[in-house]
Amino acid sequence: MGKLPVLVLNSGSSSIKFSIYEAGAGEPEKLLEGAVDGIGAAGLGSFWVKDASGEKIVNEAPELPNAATAFALVAEALNRDGFPHPAAIGHRMVCGGPTVTENQFLTPELIDEMERYTAFAPLHTPIAVFIMRQALKLFPGVPNFVCLDSYFHRNLPEVTRHLPIPPKYAGMGVRRFGAHGISYESIVHALEPNVPKRLIVAHLGNGASISAVKDGSGVETSMGLTPTGGIISGTRTGDIDPGVLIFILRDLLASGRSGDEAADLLEKAASKQSGLLGVSELTNDMRGLREAIGSGNAKARLAVDEFVYAIRKFIGAYIAVLGGLDMLVFTGGIGENDSASRAEICAGLECFGIQVDAERNNCLGEAVISAEGSPVTVRVIPPAEDLIIVNHVRRLLDGSGK
Ligand code: ADP
Repeated sequence: MGKLPVLVLNSGSSSIKFSIYEAGAGEPEKLLEGAVDGIGAAGLGSFWVKDASGEKIVNEAPELPNAATAFALVAEALNRDGFPHPAAIGHRMVCGGPTVTENQFLTPELIDEMERYTAFAPLHTPIAVFIMRQALKLFPGVPNFVCLDSYFHRNLPEVTRHLPIPPKYAGMGVRRFGAHGISYESIVHALEPNVPKRLIVAHLGNGASISAVKDGSGVETSMGLTPTGGIISGTRTGDIDPGVLIFILRDLLASGRSGDEAADLLEKAASKQSGLLGVSELTNDMRGLREAIGSGNAKARLAVDEFVYAIRKFIGAYIAVLGGLDMLVFTGGIGENDSASRAEICAGLECFGIQVDAERNNCLGEAVISAEGSPVTVRVIPPAEDLIIVNHVRRLLDGSGK
């Protein structure tokens, strides 16, 4: 296959990130990247594009009342002269439901099928399927492909994939899918050909999850049916006694709300108003929390303590799952940039052979942060999700794999 530009689209609840890579025989090369941010927030819209050297070639502050306006800007820019026109498009999708579990060619029917399972990733699926339909419309004749986060977790053993619920709901597709799979794939890819036998990866961003990886394959992951499960994260509860959700639901119903309204508010409480934001009553942003901790804010301290403690417990559990540990990798915005979180998480894990060197931990970007002679290697590796999507698209295009 010759060289061809592949557009990667990765949408969040208020942003659309995109990049174009030149895919060829070797490792793909980034041609440009950009984002439209602040969708639905009056006066806060931004649209930027950087070229391969990192220079901003577009920097605008448009009004972005909705996702349609935002995506139209991206499509218009990519159709301008001087911009690489995509020959294929790869879409990141958190979860396609129980029937769409493989990365594949995107059709309108496939989008409809994945949309049936919006409840399995309620913050991500609505905008992702919207962007997919827009891409089919605005880039006619360009092949589109879907790349799933859940793909990395496709080989989870039954004991963790299956959830202890009535069979009726298991039959409706309710099970552990996990998320951040493309990030996990990118970490395994970065470690190749020396992927350690027993690996734990902590993807700590606005959403946070942790995975146990054996011989390069995901065997356990903290997020469950939806990305709300697992570790407490920016605005999400993480794992919680179901009784708490039932208590909140009954409280909402007691104030005269309809069942649908109560379910929507419960979803909002669990996924948008909890986590670091809910505990700190301040922010879900780790930088803001660290600043508040610095000025003695006890709620911010408690929020970060709950976060760190949950991750430490998961690491202990996953060492049991893997029967020991060779390497621990931190990734995601917090995992990459917040040395204090890394130090706090690893403090107390020395008994498992995890020894972090304080000076090495003071790094920016990719680094080995474990002490000389530490039985477990501890590393920081930024995720490269777009690169993984391009590789999947290239394999799907030339029929050499998924
Ligand atoms: P998303 O899940 O939205 O992709 P990111 O991976 O970008 O999130 O991570 C966002 C988180 O990373 C935020 O909590 C942010 O505060 C944190 N973060 C980013 N840069 C830093 C930094 N320099 N120090 C501490 N935390 C940081």
